[in-house]
Amino acid sequence: MAEPLLEVDGLTRHFDLGSGRTLHAVDGVSFRLAREEILGLVGESGSGKSTLGKTLLGLLEKTRGTVRFEGETLPQRYGPKDHRRLATRMQMIFQDPYSSLNPRMTAGEIIGEGLRLHGRQSDQEVRAAVTHWLEAVGLRAEHAGRYPHEFSGGQRQRIGIARAMILEPTFVVCDEPISALDVSVQAQVVNLLAELKAALGLTLLFIAHDLSMVRYVSDRMAVMYLGSLIELGASDDVFFRPKHPYTQLLIASNPEPDPALARAPRPTMSGEIPSPVNLGDGCRFAGRCPDATEHCRRVTPSLKPVADGEDKTLRLVACHLYT
Ligand code: SF4
Repeated sequence: MAEPLLEVDGLTRHFDLGSGRTLHAVDGVSFRLAREEILGLVGESGSGKSTLGKTLLGLLEKTRGTVRFEGETLPQRYGPKDHRRLATRMQMIFQDPYSSLNPRMTAGEIIGEGLRLHGRQSDQEVRAAVTHWLEAVGLRAEHAGRYPHEFSGGQRQRIGIARAMILEPTFVVCDEPISALDVSVQAQVVNLLAELKAALGLTLLFIAHDLSMVRYVSDRMAVMYLGSLIELGASDDVFFRPKHPYTQLLIASNPEPDPALARAPRPTMSGEIPSPVNLGDGCRFAGRCPDATEHCRRVTPSLKPVADGEDKTLRLVACHLYT
């Protein structure tokens, strides 16, 4: 891999629930992200994907671990100056285009707010940048004066994308950017993100539920379960030849939209994702894994390289079946 843009080591975010109870939202996550790479992050609801994205960007304080971005070790806890300084380099596109836009601000005010907060440009320059970004995301200049409720869901997500892009970041966390949208507009928003990524040389962490969409859009795919990464590799390798039992079941539960690619009926996931409170030793998937042994219940598997001559990139898997 080329010189990484982002180096994440042992990133951990716990929440103290009181009475000796700790919620392990993100637990010891490590990975590298190359410049202009798209890493897809998948897993069930409650696996810690969004918390990982927010902790990476300093929207949540780290409990432990380090994040190096463009060679700089980022602070453990951000102050207002850190947020302002890093906002021009790292941005987030949120899941819900309904709640993430201030209903009392016009689209133009929402998109231009970041530039105004930085105070480096005149009102006229901010207005010109807003017009540019409205058009770049497929809206029109006259939309600047309208309020969020006057737009469709897809248009609101385009406003959210313009708001993130106007600061010209190098790294963007896309936190389930399509899951609140109608299926008919999901592909449009994904294609817009792919076009912007290619035009601007962006690096993206693309968090989503839809594994087919993640495979389509991302170079590599990371699978998260109960706060930990359990598999990481080239998207096609992970999607078509999953190694971790959880990834295999997750992909088996994913509806295949193309009948030509539909596979024979396969086992599906049983049970719910367990509570991430006060997790002990052992594999976190042991309670749902068809291959679990006594050893799995006692010893936590770590994410390790698994040799596979067919893989396009190094495959990492956290499972005792491969040790
Ligand atoms: Fe299943 Fe054991 Fe592998 Fe965990 S370590 S996924 S329980 S086989």
